[in-house]
Amino acid sequence: MSAPSTAAPYEAAASPFSADEHRCSSCGISLTTRGSVTFVCPSCGKGIIGRCRQCRDQSVPYICRVCGFQGP
Ligand SMILES: [Zn+2]
Ligand SMILES: [Zn+2]
Repeated sequence: MSAPSTAAPYEAAASPFSADEHRCSSCGISLTTRGSVTFVCPSCGKGIIGRCRQCRDQSVPYICRVCGFQGP
């Protein structure tokens, strides 16, 4: 028996991206706390989007710096 896997975004600490990109796209703080995530823009696949735990909890919108995509 194994637990079902989920498609949740990986933790920022396990991200392959550089530290310079570890910044919340919504409020701009450094993503050094647990619970923050970094992922590639679902629209263009190039922009790096970071979200801190607080912005995730409050579903604050983010904007891709590369293509301007806005999403939850
Ligand atoms: Zn934030
Ligand atoms: Zn984008």
